[in-house]
Amino acid sequence: MTADPLDPYVHVRGASEHNLRNVDVDIPRHAMVAFTGVSGSGKSSLAFGTLYAEAQRRYFESVAPYARRLLQQVGAPHVQEVTGLPPAVALQQRRGAPTSRSSVGTITTLSNLLRMLYSRSGDYPRGADRLAAEAFSPNTVAGACPRCSGLGVVHDVTEELLVPDPSLSIRDGAIAAWPGAWQGANLRSIVTGLGIDIDKPWRRLRKSDRDWLLFTDEQPSVLIKPERDRVDYGYHGQFWSARKHVMHVLADSTSERMRERALRFVVDAPCPDCGGSGLRPEALAVTFEGRSIAELNDLPLTGVVEVLRPVAERPQDSDEVAVRLCADLVARIEVLLDLGLGYLGLGRSSTTLSPGEAQRLRIATQLRSGLFGVVYVLDEPSAGLHPADAEPLLDVLDRLKEAGNSLFVVEHDIDVVRRSDWVVDIGPGAGESGGRVLYSGPVAGLEDVAESATSAHLFGRAERVEHDVRRPQGWLRLEGVTRHNLRDLSVDVPLCVLTAVTGVSGSGKSTLVSQVLAEDAEAAASFDRVVVVDQRPIGRTPRSNLATYTGLFDAVRKVFAATDEAQERGYGAGRFSFNVAEGRCETCQGEGFVAVELLFLPGSYAPCPTCHGARYDDETLEITYRGRNVAEVLGLSVDQAADFLADVPAAARSLRTLRDVGLGYLRLGQPATELSGGEAQRIKLATELQRAHRGHTLYLLDEPTSGLHPADTDLLLRQLHRLVDAGNTIVLVEHDLDAIASADWVIDLGPGGGDAGGRVVATGTPADLARARDSRTAPYLARRLA
Ligand code: ADP
Ligand code: ADP
Ligand code: ZN
Ligand code: ZN
Repeated sequence: MTADPLDPYVHVRGASEHNLRNVDVDIPRHAMVAFTGVSGSGKSSLAFGTLYAEAQRRYFESVAPYARRLLQQVGAPHVQEVTGLPPAVALQQRRGAPTSRSSVGTITTLSNLLRMLYSRSGDYPRGADRLAAEAFSPNTVAGACPRCSGLGVVHDVTEELLVPDPSLSIRDGAIAAWPGAWQGANLRSIVTGLGIDIDKPWRRLRKSDRDWLLFTDEQPSVLIKPERDRVDYGYHGQFWSARKHVMHVLADSTSERMRERALRFVVDAPCPDCGGSGLRPEALAVTFEGRSIAELNDLPLTGVVEVLRPVAERPQDSDEVAVRLCADLVARIEVLLDLGLGYLGLGRSSTTLSPGEAQRLRIATQLRSGLFGVVYVLDEPSAGLHPADAEPLLDVLDRLKEAGNSLFVVEHDIDVVRRSDWVVDIGPGAGESGGRVLYSGPVAGLEDVAESATSAHLFGRAERVEHDVRRPQGWLRLEGVTRHNLRDLSVDVPLCVLTAVTGVSGSGKSTLVSQVLAEDAEAAASFDRVVVVDQRPIGRTPRSNLATYTGLFDAVRKVFAATDEAQERGYGAGRFSFNVAEGRCETCQGEGFVAVELLFLPGSYAPCPTCHGARYDDETLEITYRGRNVAEVLGLSVDQAADFLADVPAAARSLRTLRDVGLGYLRLGQPATELSGGEAQRIKLATELQRAHRGHTLYLLDEPTSGLHPADTDLLLRQLHRLVDAGNTIVLVEHDLDAIASADWVIDLGPGGGDAGGRVVATGTPADLARARDSRTAPYLARRLA
């Protein structure tokens, strides 16, 4: 049913997806609508699980009848009726693993335009044929560099890796990359036969001999007289240089162990033929404004615009195609510059982008797509953004709205909620205690809704997280750090306090914390352990879940194995694992789900037709503990399980820490694939909290508050401060002003992103930082502390 243009609302009736309690709500179109509520309250179940899922279902029904059968397996959203719903596009943050073959240029489709530009309007060497646009893409047969197949990198060996200890002689194993046993002895005999001294220390051999031994492609055949054998017989042996041997193993060996060993001797180096661009020489010879397409791909977007703008502004009577393409490219790139992404280059691989960068690229691409009358359903667009970066993003969302679209945004950032036209607040709690619409209307009206946690934060009634002022118990000095955009940076990181690392997107925060600090702290002796608590999934299949990850499930299985009935039947704890053949459902192999392949959609799962999601065979399910079988226990929420397993100490401890970080609403068996990045991160944190550690741990967290309602942020901050009070050190990458304000120390990077960043702008307490000049964080922090 299409939207009635005279009725400006989407009407939802009887929505009961997940925890939603028969929700009726009317939501305006052509507006920016924020869906708010504590985590687990049901925001995504309404915005994605109901509205987007329903729009998608209708779309598939209309275009692909065959998809209907598959969609029935996955199931339609639980809702009685939705009217007035336009087609929807979802821009989710952490969906689908990006492949290394996609890049900033391909995500934004700018690469297509650029290839057309080079194909049609490039300067070709004299006598060269014009190339088709595909010839400028490393991802096509026509374009890929034959040496590296378009990947831009090749494996190569280096002397340092092949010969880790140059004081050894060849006989003592200087060439570590060579095979051992008789093959090695064989090679040594050949080398002797060639007149090279195998008892000299490696570093005293002639350079030309060393290079030949390591790198030559020659494979002379040599008559070998076995070393200690005086008998005069021999055979011909073939020489293999160390490189030739390593490459041979990597290319041809079927032994995983051999290949792994060989990989120790190689580094990824830019392909020497294409210089890392992945393109054929013919394509690289074509230039536009004096640059090859590879050179243009290496520039930051700010530089690309400088090259193209003069062409875009030429009078129309010059090369018309070039002017038009350049104008289009410049207009599209300007949106990216507005979004603070000017530091990215078109060639940058998508695997190295943060989720927030990737989402902003997609949003910008949508803006130019010319769609209107569409609902964009977005998942926390402000996540990962410095407040200074969030403002231009909101301007772009406004432009999408002005172009005739609707924006449904699941959001936690109070400033974004304030700017919305309408708010749908769900709660009051999570899971069973949520799922109701507390308020749906213009933002100001939320003030009077007493039971709303959002209202308390939006209108300044919430209590702030306070703690005693702490003094650093020493410093970890990082000196002369050079990586990505950090150049010769030095900074002191205080010990035994909570430090927030701040700065606009691309300023170098993650590089400093998740890479440099993670590695250096491991080497420095200041800590007993270094733990990185990130947002990566706790598992990639439904086989891992909360209970297995935290170890809680071990306690549950022991409880079941200890029941009289299990003992009588001889069922051990293993029987109650859905990962072991004994007790699990054979159809789904204990997953509870079967994979359904839908064209165009990432892998979807449907409930198993045999066990209907229970995961176990019938015999195993006959065993009960206090009236519940193991599948039913996995179906309990953490809150429910805390009661049910109160007298099982090992389980009770895990459950308590999970509730402490605000995850009481999750079900024990909730598959890893259903958890958000923020939930995965808090599960990891809870797992850390439940261990009684001695010693000094350094915890590194990348944006732990992303995806959290301010009320949940407070809960999390309290737990982090507990870890610091216990003598540990925490360093967080953060944008959330509440979290920054509650830190003991702040390191602000910047001032801008990419080459305009990478420096320490200011350090100090939050109050010091709020006064710092040149810091883009300072004004926001000052406002927060006021
Ligand atoms: P929010 O977006 O507000 O954080 P969700 O809509 O993701 O909350 O979750 C609401 C409730 O639904 C929670 O109790 C959550 O555990 C449950 N839930 C979420 N996804 C699923 C799912 N795929 N299957 C079953 N329950 C789910
Ligand atoms: P932040 O965490 O502050 O957003 P990052 O540390 O992710 O910043 O990035 C800092 C700079 O380093 C940016 O210019 C970014 O484009 C660049 N960068 C980050 N990761 C990589 C990478 N894997 N390869 C090349 N450049 C990178
Ligand atoms: Zn190449
Ligand atoms: Zn099954």
